[in-house]
Parts: sequence; structure tokens; C-alpha cells
Amino acid sequence: MCGIFGIFDHLEASNHAYLGLYALQHRGQESTGIVSSDGKQLHHYRQMGLVSEVFTKDLLKKLSGRNAIGHVRYSTTGSSELKNAQPFVADYANGMISIAHNGNLTNAVPIRNKLESQGAIFQSNMDTEVIVHLIARSKEKTFLDRTIHALRQVEGAYSLLFLTGKEMVAARDPMGFRPLVLGSLKDSPVVASETCAFDLIGARWIREIEPGEVLLINDAGIKSFKPFPHKQLRQCIFEFIYFARPDSFIFNHNVYEMRKTFGAQLSKESPAVADMTIPIPDSGFPAALGYAAQSNLPFELGMIRNHYIGRTFIEPDQRIRHFGVKIKLNPVRGLLNEKKIVIVDDSIVRATTSRKIVGMFRNVGAREVHVRISSPPITDPCFFGIDTPKKSELIASSHKVKEIQKFIHATSLNYLSLEGLKKCVRGEEKNFCYACFTGDYPYPFQTEI
Ligand code: AMP
Repeated sequence: MCGIFGIFDHLEASNHAYLGLYALQHRGQESTGIVSSDGKQLHHYRQMGLVSEVFTKDLLKKLSGRNAIGHVRYSTTGSSELKNAQPFVADYANGMISIAHNGNLTNAVPIRNKLESQGAIFQSNMDTEVIVHLIARSKEKTFLDRTIHALRQVEGAYSLLFLTGKEMVAARDPMGFRPLVLGSLKDSPVVASETCAFDLIGARWIREIEPGEVLLINDAGIKSFKPFPHKQLRQCIFEFIYFARPDSFIFNHNVYEMRKTFGAQLSKESPAVADMTIPIPDSGFPAALGYAAQSNLPFELGMIRNHYIGRTFIEPDQRIRHFGVKIKLNPVRGLLNEKKIVIVDDSIVRATTSRKIVGMFRNVGAREVHVRISSPPITDPCFFGIDTPKKSELIASSHKVKEIQKFIHATSLNYLSLEGLKKCVRGEEKNFCYACFTGDYPYPFQTEI
């Protein structure tokens, strides 16, 4: 779970990288960094924290040059500490390189073990660092060829940006797990995880960077390469369900429209007799709108989210019940007394949140609480870049829907069916990865990461 942004040949490269990352903040809140290039040298700054907390005007001024890449991180491999913040910077025989990665490599551990047995020293415990070592060891001449040589050896999910003194390279793995889009800001090429980053800086969307495509961006322009064998696409369906921002266009669809379709399909499959539909903020909003419209139920904002909570808050010594959820969400008391409600959320992971939310609605007098989830039950962890806990912590891996309903004290509980989900991406159903709902991973791999 990470976001990446890059801009080439722009007077205010690092300022725009900062804004691009600001728009991608939902993809990772642990650490952030920007690396700029002035044509010769790379300048970098990485820190734990949010984009708005980490960067100042003075810092951005020091990140000089016309090219920049940036990263926001939520760790899915490697621990949450500064040494694992990205973009990663390294100095090798041909100069400095920097890399920003979204996704997870599934064969990083065996590659790393082999490299370490040959004497390589790693600075971080991120999977991404193996790519840097493979580039440094490649016998190819140009940076592009070295990068392609390195990427031929790794497996898994990668949307990547590289920066050297004079070049930027963008790459997306052949299965296209994570999104990556190309745009332009006047004449300057920009690359981002999601189009919402383009909207903020006024850049124009050009196209998706295609799965298996490598783009070389330098003073001569943009060149596209397709150096890898063709593979069946496995774009992450969970980007549509939960992760991406609704205003983004990724995988050639608008996320908001897709979520509304999921909600409408859910209503067709699992209607409820109720007085109103209520979204769980914020990720449940579009699906709840789709659900309410399809089932002809009033749409009410029955749960309000406090948008101003920081990352830490001082909890009183005498613990308040469900403090963590309460500080973020609170039901609208007057609206709910004696009411039958349908609440719509995007997913259930451990079910601790849903249980608390149902309890809060009941506490303010709701008579029936029907829970509708706009994804199938999550039964298996993701090894391709979404932060899901291990299988044993996923409630649907060991409990039937009826048991989960009981656990969260819902009047009824229904998930969107896998068939229903596939119907929503009709014509493209083969192009997505559904492994978190099926355990059917796109290819066999060892789960030691
Ligand atoms: P819970 O079932 O209590 O573990 O939490 C479910 C909620 O977490 C849902 O409302 C989702 O919006 C949200 N969620 C789903 N997947 C993730 C994820 N990978 N990381 C953080 N939150 C998530």
C-alpha cells in the first residue's frame, strides 16, 4: 500500500511532487520522501509522517532540479521505520539511482538470500532493495537495459519509478497488479499511481502505463518498451473496492462509478426491508449510494466522521469503551430511534470495526441493523501489496457469514457475491486478481515474505 509520483523536466519539479504525493496520501501514511535530480546529482529527503508534516518550503527548495520522484508508504513488507522509507537512494558504479515502488515482490527473499551469500550488504529490509542490487550487478550497458535485466528476475507486483541524473524510468509488472498512469503538465511528463494526483496539479491524463510496459523518459522524449513475455492481467480488484480514491480513474475505470455499481449489484442480490440506507464513512459512501438508489431507500448520513483526528490522541487513563472507533465515528442520534437501517461498508477484515459500529447504532436506538458489504468475504491475505493481516486474523477465513452476523450483532449480514463482483467488471473479469476472496493466487510462490 503505497503511492508514487514522478515529474520530468519541470521548473518546479519537487513542489509538484509534493502536491502529487499530497493527493496520494490515502495510499500510505507512515513515511514519505522526494528525490530530485538537477541533471547531475540527486537530492533526497525522507521522513516518517504525513506529506504535509514532513515537507516545508525550505526543504522543497533544497530538492532542486527539473526532475523528481516521490513516495508515500504504508508498509506491507519491511518494518515501519526510516530506513525503509522511500524513494530508496543508492550509489553504484554508474552514479546515483533512486527507486519508488508500489506493490510487493514475491521472490525477494530468495533473491536477497542469494545476494547476501555473495557478500551483498542491504541497507533496509524492504523487498524493493533487491531491484537496486540487481541493477548494480547487471552487465548491461545502459540504465534502461540494466533495469529491464533486473525486472526480468523479480516476480510479483510492481509499479515503479526510477530516477537517475538524467533519466526517469517508469515500469509496471506484466500482470498489472497496481495502477500507474501517465500524464503531462504542459510539456512535462508526469507519472502517478492514480489520476487524482494529476487533477490537483492541473496535469492532463494521457493513458494508463500498460502492464509489462517500461517507459524511458529523458531529454529526447518518452520511449515505450515491452520487454517481458505477455501474461494474463491480474489487476487488483481491491483497488476498486477500498483502496483507490473514488475520484481517480484507474484500470481505465472511474473508481466512484465502479463502487456505485458494486452497491447496486449488492442491493439486487441482498435487498432489505428498512427505513433508510446509511454509508459507513468514508469508504462505504459510493457503494451505499448505489445500494440506496437501486433499492429505492432514502439515503441518510447516519454516521458522521471526524476528519480532524491526528495520528495519535491522548486517551484518558480510565479507558473509554471503543474509544478508537468513537473518536472517528459517531451516529446521528435523533435520526435512528426505533428505525430499521441498512448500513453499507466496503469490506470486513477482522470484523472488530463492524461489531463496534453495529453496537453504536443499537445504542442510539436503531431497532434493526442490516449490514451489507460491497465485497465478498476476505478469506486470504494479499501478497501483492494490500495490507491484509494473516489468514488466522481474517474473520471470514474461519467463520461462516451467519457466524460473523452473530459476532457483529447484526440483524442480517450479506456480502456481495464473487459472481456479482465479476458481473460489475463484465467483459474484463479475467483481468483481475480475486485471491483475497478465493485463495486462488495468480501463480504459486513461497509465502515467507
Ligand atoms: P475490520 O473488519 O474491523 O478489520 O475493519 C474493516 C474496515 O477496514 C472496513 O470498513 C474497510 O473500510 C477498512 N479496510 C479494509 N481493508 C483495509 C486495509 N487493508 N487496511 C486498512 N483498512 C482497511
